[in-house]
Amino acid sequence: MTSLLLPFVLALAADAAAPAAPQPAPASPGAAPPAPAVLVVLNANIYTAADAAPRARAMAVGGGVVRAIGEEAAVRPYIGPKTRVVDLGGKTLLPGLIDSHGHMLSLGTRLSDVDLTGTTSYEQVIARVVERAKTTPKGEWILGRGWDQNDWAVMAMPLHGALSRAVPDHPVRLTRIDGHAALVNQRALDLAHITRSTPDPQGGAILKDDKGEPSGVLVDAASGLVNDVIPPITQAEREKRLLLAMQECARLGLTMVHDAGISTQEWLAYKALLGNGTFPIRIYAMAAARDSLADTLLAHNGIKGLKLSLRAIKVIADGALGSRGALLGSPYSDDPHNLGLATFPLERLRELGELAFQKDLQVRVHAIGDSANHGVLDAFDHVFGGRPQPQARWAIEHAQIVRPSDIARFAKLGVVASMQPTHATSDGPWAESRLGPERIRWGYRWRDFLNAGVPLASGSDFPVESPDPLLGLYAAITRRDLDGKLPAGGWFPDQKMTPAEALKSFTATGAWLAFHENEMGTLEPGKQADFVVVDHDVIGGDPEQIPKSKVLWTVVGGQTVYEMVSSAAQAAPDVQPFLAMARSNKCASQRNRLFLIDGKLVFWDWSGGCSDARFGQVLYGGSTDSVLCVFKDSIAGQRKECRVSAYSALFETMLANIDRPDLGLGRSHSVKPIKF
Ligand SMILES: [Zn+2]
Repeated sequence: MTSLLLPFVLALAADAAAPAAPQPAPASPGAAPPAPAVLVVLNANIYTAADAAPRARAMAVGGGVVRAIGEEAAVRPYIGPKTRVVDLGGKTLLPGLIDSHGHMLSLGTRLSDVDLTGTTSYEQVIARVVERAKTTPKGEWILGRGWDQNDWAVMAMPLHGALSRAVPDHPVRLTRIDGHAALVNQRALDLAHITRSTPDPQGGAILKDDKGEPSGVLVDAASGLVNDVIPPITQAEREKRLLLAMQECARLGLTMVHDAGISTQEWLAYKALLGNGTFPIRIYAMAAARDSLADTLLAHNGIKGLKLSLRAIKVIADGALGSRGALLGSPYSDDPHNLGLATFPLERLRELGELAFQKDLQVRVHAIGDSANHGVLDAFDHVFGGRPQPQARWAIEHAQIVRPSDIARFAKLGVVASMQPTHATSDGPWAESRLGPERIRWGYRWRDFLNAGVPLASGSDFPVESPDPLLGLYAAITRRDLDGKLPAGGWFPDQKMTPAEALKSFTATGAWLAFHENEMGTLEPGKQADFVVVDHDVIGGDPEQIPKSKVLWTVVGGQTVYEMVSSAAQAAPDVQPFLAMARSNKCASQRNRLFLIDGKLVFWDWSGGCSDARFGQVLYGGSTDSVLCVFKDSIAGQRKECRVSAYSALFETMLANIDRPDLGLGRSHSVKPIKF
């Protein structure tokens, strides 16, 4: 394993060693003016998440770090002739948001699957798969998710015939919206050797048509027959999906994610992306205990980098509450013979814990049921020798149902509660049926943890929940859901966080949990310039506005990684560094195109692999169908005419009508091609 890890250690050294810029002396009257900043933000409603100075109006950024923050008078001296000055018009600016528990590859996989949510007919589902088939080499799998026959005029479960005729050359698997069924085509049935005589596997069903042939719908465990024949993804595909997920996080205002349980292959993919300079946000990775990466980590030391770190091991101690897999001390209220599942022997957790503790590595254990939480605390207590070890920053992930006496043990041992506010509001409508009226009081107890002095970090467990941290803030502050299934005053409102506590749990505590509290998590001089601008005051304003709020600008280490506002006053970006990058990467082909749209740099990349998060926005090409894919909302009426031959004539028209609010581009624009 040494050979595997060592190159990463060496390659990371440059990143890890990147020093924070020296803290500048504050400007004082009569003193020489400070060196000009790269960026100065004025007229902003700033929440710093720092206890000493929680509010500010202005901030100066240079060298990737915050150089000054406070009142405008204290920041104005940093404005020089080349400083970009942004008047935020009173908009809210927060430290970069941190999700302390997400799954990046799963998110990237969701984003790269054919999205079938919102389809209103089987024909529409097929049309979306046909579009994807045009850009997918024959024989390769096409995966999609999100169909729901209840949204169709004909609500019957689909039969594969129409799909198989429309897409005969690719195996296809389309997962239903609930994840409990999949529609597959004939090619996929053949590869999985599913015929009329294949018996239903335990816990699953192969649905049949009226002639007794497989209908193409596989329920629950039967999907496994097809999943088993889907080849593992390539390393290039893994990198692509991780980058997609990072870009999505940047769009949502997340500047760091704790990736909760990765494999060696994912680690290698992250390393490759970091090496390419395509790494928009920060990743604090946990090695999955069951993967060889955990063994590698235990045999070495952790790796700390500003962009990418690995010094934690993720263990899963039980299942989930919804599927009655969470390990309870007494049976489920709605399943009197079931206690749930222990998925990792506590003895083994103690052994692994001892090794990790000696190596100064962090251990993060998924525990949802009260018995799982109790057992994990026992194991931690054993490893800690009964003494508090807050400096180890070991955490229980989810900490969902916890006995009152165990909350005190979190505090006593210095164990962190890493929780997901949206789990509470998603589970709220049915959790009591699993737990009963007494035990439900043990669930989702943020306030009790905070009152006991337990560090509380927030996340989402995406893609189980949405990765949108604003929804997390909303759930934390209101304990309300978006569907109105929970009481108007909030579900167990005594457990609400204050807005300041919620912000801290999504910023400072997440940074601290990643051993990065000296570099990020709050906005203070000398810390990384990671920040987010939001169109509503999501901390001090009306909480009901939070779910409707939008992230306008995300900055990581002083670099813009997402920007929605395209102000006409904004200076056109310097395209020279982009051109240099494109030429050195051999991306300057005739087919690749570069445009300024409303002053924003947009690169049309036909070949893929020419993206670079440092520069502009990249739209992927590859074929006319991808163009349709990107522009489908605005050019629905032109869909038929848009063939390859007509492509160049239509291109400018399409760009002028591009509808990508996620890129900060509205419906009509000035388009200026740039010579390549
Ligand atoms: Zn998880």
